[in-house]
Amino acid sequence: MTATQDKGTALRDQLVAWRRWLHMNPEVGFHEHETAAYIEAELRQMPGLLVSRPTETSVLAVLQGGQPGRTALLRADIDALPIHEENTFDFASQRPGVMHACGHDGHTAILLGVAKLLSESPQDVPGEIRMIFQHAEEIGPGGAEELVTQTTLMDGVDVVTGLHLNSQLPAGVVAVKPGPFMAAPDTVELTIRGRGGHGAHPEEAVDPIAIGAQVVGNLQHVVSRHVGAQDALVVSITKFVSGTTHNVIPDTAELMGTVRTFDPDLRQKAPALIERVVKGVCEAHGATYELRYEFGYRPLINTDWVAEQLREIAIETVGPERFQVSKPTMGGEDFSAYLERAPGAYFNVGSGSDAADSRWPHHHPRFTIDEASLETGVRMLHAAALKLTGPPTT
Ligand SMILES: [Zn+2]
Ligand SMILES: [Zn+2]
Repeated sequence: MTATQDKGTALRDQLVAWRRWLHMNPEVGFHEHETAAYIEAELRQMPGLLVSRPTETSVLAVLQGGQPGRTALLRADIDALPIHEENTFDFASQRPGVMHACGHDGHTAILLGVAKLLSESPQDVPGEIRMIFQHAEEIGPGGAEELVTQTTLMDGVDVVTGLHLNSQLPAGVVAVKPGPFMAAPDTVELTIRGRGGHGAHPEEAVDPIAIGAQVVGNLQHVVSRHVGAQDALVVSITKFVSGTTHNVIPDTAELMGTVRTFDPDLRQKAPALIERVVKGVCEAHGATYELRYEFGYRPLINTDWVAEQLREIAIETVGPERFQVSKPTMGGEDFSAYLERAPGAYFNVGSGSDAADSRWPHHHPRFTIDEASLETGVRMLHAAALKLTGPPTT
């Protein structure tokens, strides 16, 4: 085995060790105390990094390169989810009801790996590289928003990048796309107030369940009949709670759902489109309503030139046969907060394989990753750090 292969094996083992410790010790958003302490301790063992805590549970490592260049921000999210893990491997979660079911344990290990590589040869690194281990991606308004608005993290940043492991892509595949990549996940909450009564005499009541059912059906007309097919819009009513028993018409029904868009104009119009339907249906049947609409993360729109550089890096790093142009997804991501302040692009690294039984969807209690994807992530992000801070290639 050559020295380079030795080094590669050592890094692989280290990545797996980091990821497994994190997987065993998951913490949900804003509570990542042990996670942040662990990350900080690991970073402090790497020479040449300036390590700090921008917020209580986030960690920042800054490396000043030995060459002139730009300032890049690399981001990993570190939080877990309130899910009870059903995996039985020996590094499964040791905290009942909490689990790394989105791959953020992998993202953290990858960024630690990049920090290690960069700290080993700072003389070759252009510019300044900031590595942010971000808290609370899974909980709105999100850790990114706090870091962007409440700290100096983004001051002087020229470009941002980060990745998400993706169980629906084969391990080792890298996918990126310019432009709209992930949707804005907004929330709608609706209370329909009717008038309760005897189930045998609906004519004397105003039935909020029957009216709510019409609202749910009619809201799909917003999608199919008020918005062009070229404009992506999803309206999903995901909660409908009402009533107590078989012969009582209840007073109220509580509904909740998610509204997903890419286009900022359509996003602004969506609440009024939805309210028009709710108002019309409720008034037609004599009910009143309260509608609450909450804007979540912004849509994630990749900057074209950064996405193009990542495409070039992917082709050099994993080869053209393992590169894909990603499809946009209706999922949301608070990485979008960084893109409000600097150009950048987010990309996917496949983590699914039959060998590792890692094709379960994200947020599933059996979710896991093929650990070979950790190395792919490190190679991509390390190359991106060097290229994005270096002299322009075009
Ligand atoms: Zn997630
Ligand atoms: Zn995630």
